[in-house]
Amino acid sequence: MYNLRMPIRLLSSEVSSQIAAGEVVERPASVVKELVENALDAGAKNIFISIADAGKTLIEVADDGHGIPANELELAAARHATSKLVQSEDLFHIQTLGFRGEALASIGSVSQMTITARVESAKEGARIKVEGGISGKVEKVGAPLGATVRVENLFYNVPARLKFLKTDVTEKRAIDALVTRYALAYPQVRFKLTDGKQITLQTAGDGDRRAILAALYGVDVAKQMLEVMAQEDYGLSIAGFISPTSLTRSNRKELTFFINGRWVQEISLNSALLQAYHTLLMVGRYPLTVLFLDIPAEDVDVNVHPTKAEVRFKQQDKIFSFVQRSVRKALLAYTPVPTVSPQLWGTRSQTESAQREIGIDWSIAHDAELTIDNPPLSAEAAQTSSSSVTQQETLPRVGLPLLRLIGQIGATYLVAEGPDGLYLIDQHAAHERVLFEKLMAQRENKNIPAQALLTPEIVTLPPQSAKALVAQLELLQRFGFEVEEFGGNAFQVRAMPALFSGADPATALRALVEDFEEDETPLAAEVEAKIAARVCKRMAVKGGQTLTKEEQSALTRDLEACQAPRTCPHGRPTMIHLSVDSLEKQFGRKGSR
Ligand code: ADP
Ligand code: MG
Repeated sequence: MYNLRMPIRLLSSEVSSQIAAGEVVERPASVVKELVENALDAGAKNIFISIADAGKTLIEVADDGHGIPANELELAAARHATSKLVQSEDLFHIQTLGFRGEALASIGSVSQMTITARVESAKEGARIKVEGGISGKVEKVGAPLGATVRVENLFYNVPARLKFLKTDVTEKRAIDALVTRYALAYPQVRFKLTDGKQITLQTAGDGDRRAILAALYGVDVAKQMLEVMAQEDYGLSIAGFISPTSLTRSNRKELTFFINGRWVQEISLNSALLQAYHTLLMVGRYPLTVLFLDIPAEDVDVNVHPTKAEVRFKQQDKIFSFVQRSVRKALLAYTPVPTVSPQLWGTRSQTESAQREIGIDWSIAHDAELTIDNPPLSAEAAQTSSSSVTQQETLPRVGLPLLRLIGQIGATYLVAEGPDGLYLIDQHAAHERVLFEKLMAQRENKNIPAQALLTPEIVTLPPQSAKALVAQLELLQRFGFEVEEFGGNAFQVRAMPALFSGADPATALRALVEDFEEDETPLAAEVEAKIAARVCKRMAVKGGQTLTKEEQSALTRDLEACQAPRTCPHGRPTMIHLSVDSLEKQFGRKGSR
């Protein structure tokens, strides 16, 4: 082992500044971030970014902000030198993006950096070169108002860092993603990003966020994104975009949060967001969101992370629930009933397969996987997919209108009429939704009525499942199941939630156990809801089951009363809507005369 003690020494300034630089400057995108933030802090209206070799050989950020006076240039490049913070109290109401006075010093210590700037009052500009942390002399040069920071050969003097960089494609993508997000956050500023060959991003600076969204995700996705906008007394506000439930990704990478104009990676906010989508998305799918949260500066501590990617809130719960409520509201208001798009019917240009889907034996909802509920996997897919069912892009509608039940067809679907057309309801999905909302409401009130079985039922499970069940008996009780161990791998079911009365206890128990085995989610509340959703799925009426007229109308009424009647708890649609409008078009009653 290495245990020869070396004497304690102060690190050379070169080494210590490289260590410090490592915290701020990890990759080319981190340089771009710091320089763009500086430009924004300087009040720039135009920010032009050029890179070469994914930023490895060149990053240049030019702005038209207030610039830096010649006599402060040397200081700007020095460590702990900032114009944004004077005393430590200022740390608790920070209004600027920067304040640590570290970025330029850090970047200068691991690259060849040139800062050129001019302030309004000066006729001439000035320039300083910093190489590996050593500043040269300040020279007078002609320069436009603002500042231009040119960073060449990043990490030329720390080859170890260079080795950690990913491929050019990946590093470039990180820069693109970063600049696009800042452009979204600051739609009044014109951004231009080029790699010397082509312009990757150019924004108009006219405040139109949706146009920038199109640059990030493609026009098709941008059109579908729902707008969130909410405000609360106390200076709390949120704005931005969230994807509808039909538009998802398989990972959380597209959850973007800005807090007070700063891009942050805040796990707690992500979970607030995901809770808002809860039960509206299929398991394992995540939304795309770009949200801008504004919080009074004194209520958020941004000084907990060197790159300021994490923050602390004074009133985390308040903010958390504000985010969740605002997103949920936007989502429920817009969750559209899938509408069969008129042009699919009868128009010659349609492909045969589309015809088949529509000529449908009413199986369109049943085979939701194929048509409606097929979330685009990527922006590219979203752009090219010509889904046979389009989202209603009309006004926000909460809940369902009153429906007039017409009857059941194929022992699987209910047909109903609303003020705005025909509704085809998948009885299974609808019942799933109804049971789920009732169960969760009872759970919320801590009162899930149980119903004792006339004769307790003995259910024997495979050893593995039995073990899982034993571990969860308490949870079961909370849901209104009364289950006791009965020796071996057998259990005695004495009572079930009244909601499921009449269902087979063995089926319920087996469904529950499967869930325990599959579940990995650590959040208890999330696990509970997931289990509830799956049990409800098992307990719900199936397709192919004839319902009495009373049952049909009870189900319709119950569905109308649901908070999110348009999807089952797993995110599949419960209904298809044929609007009066599309029917009229299809029958040639409209437009052709
Ligand atoms: P910080 O942003 O935390 O203050 P930096 O090292 O990023 O620290 O910048 C140091 C100082 O240099 C800033 O406080 C600011 O006064 C000045 N500065 C940096 N970039 C610009 C710019 N683009 N325009 C005007 N001033 C700038
Ligand atoms: Mg800065």
